[in-house]
Amino acid sequence: MSPHQLSKSSFIKGLQCEKHLYLYKYHYNEMDELSEMQKAIFQRGTDVGVFAQKLFPGGIAATEGSPPAYKKGLNKTGELILQGGKIIYEAAFQFNEVLSIADIIVKEKNKWNIYEVKSSTSISETYLNDAALQYYVISNSGIEINDFSIIHINNQYIRKGELDINELFTIESVFDSILSLQNIVEENVERFKKVLRKREIPDIDIGEHCHSPYTCSFFNYCRKHIPEDSIFDFSGMHLKKKYELYRDGIIKLDDVPDDYSLNKNNGIQLDVYKSGKAKIDREDLKSFLDDFNYPLYFMDFESFQPAVPLFDNSKPYQQIPFQYSIHLKEKNDGELKHFEFLAEPGEDTRVKFIEGLLNHTKGEGDIVVYNKSFEITRLKEITRDFPQYADEIEKLILRIKDLMIPFQRKYYYAPEMKGSYSIKAVLPSLVPELSYDELKIKEGGLASITFESLQTETDMIIIAETREQLLEYCKLDTLAMVKIFEKLENI
Ligand code: SF4
Repeated sequence: MSPHQLSKSSFIKGLQCEKHLYLYKYHYNEMDELSEMQKAIFQRGTDVGVFAQKLFPGGIAATEGSPPAYKKGLNKTGELILQGGKIIYEAAFQFNEVLSIADIIVKEKNKWNIYEVKSSTSISETYLNDAALQYYVISNSGIEINDFSIIHINNQYIRKGELDINELFTIESVFDSILSLQNIVEENVERFKKVLRKREIPDIDIGEHCHSPYTCSFFNYCRKHIPEDSIFDFSGMHLKKKYELYRDGIIKLDDVPDDYSLNKNNGIQLDVYKSGKAKIDREDLKSFLDDFNYPLYFMDFESFQPAVPLFDNSKPYQQIPFQYSIHLKEKNDGELKHFEFLAEPGEDTRVKFIEGLLNHTKGEGDIVVYNKSFEITRLKEITRDFPQYADEIEKLILRIKDLMIPFQRKYYYAPEMKGSYSIKAVLPSLVPELSYDELKIKEGGLASITFESLQTETDMIIIAETREQLLEYCKLDTLAMVKIFEKLENI
């Protein structure tokens, strides 16, 4: 059998952009490096796929290895089917130079039910296109298909005791939808094969399509001509408007005419960029700061979102807080005290978390957070799952004040913030001496997946080092808040 030209993933890339398909096939090395977050998301997809095999136990894997050994997979799938196999995992098929690997196939009488596993909680258009291509390949390989379903996570499942795998997953037939897509699949397969026969990279410029359905894996490759400080830095501006500017040849922020119509925030962003000087509204800052009552508790949480709920009373992808840091400043010129908590892997993190937090914030004074909706939502979820703490949590929530407000409302805005008001954008402008650069864990998403990885880690040295990195990261978040607050007071 000749080698395949297309696969499920290259087909989906082709639907996004022919250039994406071409680069993926012939210029793989130019692909953007995967972030730790992206790697974790891919790994989660693989783990969920393996986990879902428990719905149909006793099957045999046809394709194995990473990257998968396709040729062996094709041969083994054929053998297993001939030998009367009833359940096959990672079954490989090829038709018309298109390769497809089905997650699970199950024989029912003389026909087959095909199952594709997704770690998401719903079915997207991309999943339907992916399933439609699989149906095209498998049905044309001489296999009679009885039904085709997508298995995805049921986000309404609440774990009570032992994990109920039948409740954790939803099996949804997409058979009718993908049958109606067959003509389009065939047309696209021929179109993509033609693209791959070209001698040159398709001449396609960047546009809104680079962001949907996923950020393209050659995003940076195609953007080498975009300078620093470009119109793509405009915060909150609709993508459509950014690309309109781009297509009009307005690419650098310096190119934007002074009378160009922008909303208030983008107008401030542009003025500050062009002047190179921070915008400071002292009156607004003063009335914001006048509202704070010492002692001040600068508080930050970290949470993680396991796809498969690990604890009772939790749902798939529920945000589970596992760590906090608090810097306490009792008075304006007082010493700083630090409290922290980091859960042990394997235990339900929430009870020790909330008991420690309530203890460390006991008494009077404001609790200062950065982006209060995150902390308040986590606290309300704990109230829902552990109502015995409701009264104390409610009192704690009433004491929360949000240090993000002056930056979000642009009472203070500096060129270094590049349109963002996240704490990581504010810090270099107000407290350049404090930085996340030296830390192993530099942002919340990575803290989250790092803690999740500890759930299965057995190496004590790795566990100890990782815990140290998590503690350092969360501590810096609250120290940064203290220093930003002090700088604002000085202003
Ligand atoms: S970045 Fe955009 S233009 Fe470039 S390959 Fe990807 S989708 Fe196509």
